[in-house]
Amino acid sequence: MSPVRPRPAVERDSTPWWDALARHELVCARCAECGRWRWPPRALCGACGSLEWAFAPVSGAGTVASFVVNRHGFGGAFPLPSTVVLVRLAEQDDLLLPGGWSGAPDGAGLTIGLAVRVGFEDVPGDADADPYTLLSWRPA
Ligand SMILES: [Zn+2]
Repeated sequence: MSPVRPRPAVERDSTPWWDALARHELVCARCAECGRWRWPPRALCGACGSLEWAFAPVSGAGTVASFVVNRHGFGGAFPLPSTVVLVRLAEQDDLLLPGGWSGAPDGAGLTIGLAVRVGFEDVPGDADADPYTLLSWRPA
C-alpha cells in the first residue's frame, strides 16, 4: 500500500482560504479598520486591536525570504527531494506565506530575495476525499 499524502485540515475559519486556492486566487487576512495584512489569520489586529477583518485578494508577487530542501522522507508520502519556500509578499514586509515550490525539486537556483509569483497545485480527489489545491510558488 502506498503512503497516504496528508490532507489539509479545512475548518470553518479557513474555508474561504481553501475555496480561493481552488479558484486559483490568493487571499490573505486584512484588518477592516487599519488595512494591515496578517498571516496566519487571527482574530485580533496586532497594529490597531480591531476584531474586524476579512480575506482580501493579494497580488501574488513576492520574494523568497527562506526555503528548506527536504531530503529525508516523512512517511514516504512526498517525492524527494522536495522544497518548501517562505515568501515575503509585495503588499507588506512582514506578510510571509509558506508554500510548495514548482521550480527544481532540489531547490537549484533558489536564493533569498528571488522574485516569485504565486502558483497552484491541484491535488486530485479519490474515493475517500475531495480534490484540493495548495500554494506552489514559482519563479517570477
Ligand atoms: Zn488593524
